[in-house]
Amino acid sequence: MSKVDRSWYDAYMMPNYAPAPMIPTRGLGSRLWDQEGREYIDFAGGIAVNVLGHAHPELIDAITDQAGRLWHTANVLATEPALLLARQLVDLTFAEKVFFSNSGAEANEAALKLARRFAFDHHGEVKSRIISFDNAFHGRTLFTVTAGGQPDYRRGFGPLPGGIEHLPFNDVQALHDAFGEDVCAVIVEPVQGEGGVVAAQRDFLEAIRRLCDQHQALMIMDEVQTGVGRTGSLYAYQAYNVIPDLLTTAKALGGGFPIAATLTTTEIASSLRVGIHGSTWGGNPLGCAVAKKVLDIVNTPTVLNGVATRREHFESALLSIGERYGVFEEIRGMGLLIGCALTEHWHGRAREFMQAAQDAGLFILVAGGNVVRLGPSLIVPEDDIAQGLERLETGIETLVQADRESD
Ligand SMILES: *Cc1c(COP(=O)(O)O)cnc(C)c1O
Repeated sequence: MSKVDRSWYDAYMMPNYAPAPMIPTRGLGSRLWDQEGREYIDFAGGIAVNVLGHAHPELIDAITDQAGRLWHTANVLATEPALLLARQLVDLTFAEKVFFSNSGAEANEAALKLARRFAFDHHGEVKSRIISFDNAFHGRTLFTVTAGGQPDYRRGFGPLPGGIEHLPFNDVQALHDAFGEDVCAVIVEPVQGEGGVVAAQRDFLEAIRRLCDQHQALMIMDEVQTGVGRTGSLYAYQAYNVIPDLLTTAKALGGGFPIAATLTTTEIASSLRVGIHGSTWGGNPLGCAVAKKVLDIVNTPTVLNGVATRREHFESALLSIGERYGVFEEIRGMGLLIGCALTEHWHGRAREFMQAAQDAGLFILVAGGNVVRLGPSLIVPEDDIAQGLERLETGIETLVQADRESD
């Protein structure tokens, strides 16, 4: 067989992604190696998924052990890994009940459907309006992409599900003005990830909580990106001290294995009676076994407190790089969900930074055209942070140089 080549991507795969020119074949900790053996530092973390880096020995053990026992039963049979993980999530959060699925979009789809169904059961069909926010990202199914606040992502897919209204993020007054008895749910990210790494203000989340209580609407927190230690708390709602009715968690939950969960109270969960909703793979034993181990490791003071220490390292270095080259206006986000907002001169050019970093041996992310995003492993060693930041600076230096020469 011929060697697998990056050109196969264009030959055989639908063109909805634009992957880098190299193909990584191996990862360890916060480093990746491509087919040619070139080494990269990974500050992208599989889009804030690989919370414990690559090939973590305890995760390998957890999944290997389960792989030798039982892979799949579907939900006609309960499994030990699913029950253990459900109980752990209940112990660690506000939740009393858990529904498992396989992706962030599915977890949000379940939350939105449950919110509609709960309102239907208790108030009838009229209570169906969903409030979400500009620039929000909730996934790519038709319902979740409609709930999302990026019109480009839903253009051309109509007719779209109705009854969803978008308001400006962090705008308490707009929320007050728009709220009413017909609202069944508000869906919000505590830190908008894809939408530019913008943290919610505490009074904004508190206002959502208060208005939901006043109007018997449900507050859904989409913690698909912020969950599982990313912000320095196990879940970001705990740092805000604003407790949602429904919470969705995915990306980091399986440390790289696809698994997601929708969490809620017993009262709300009672609307998901037998047959009302489901998923063939949801709660898959492999995913649940590895997610339990991820939570065991992440939910320790060493890892959670380490997030703040590492953030300080990143933030001070990024601020000084930004100043030196005039590229960053602001370093924002929470914990190890880090956004570097580009100065006006660089607006629309975030992907050039990603490219330049790759050339220097570093993987990073963008969040729209104006923000460079980092979502490294929560246990990335300080040495890798230092070396990765050096590579970032090298990339930026080259980029800025080329930009000056082209002026
Ligand atoms: C990534 C993301 C999703 C979608 O998750 P998928 O697993 O890609 O379906 C939903 N919400 C937020 C906040 C996300 O960051």
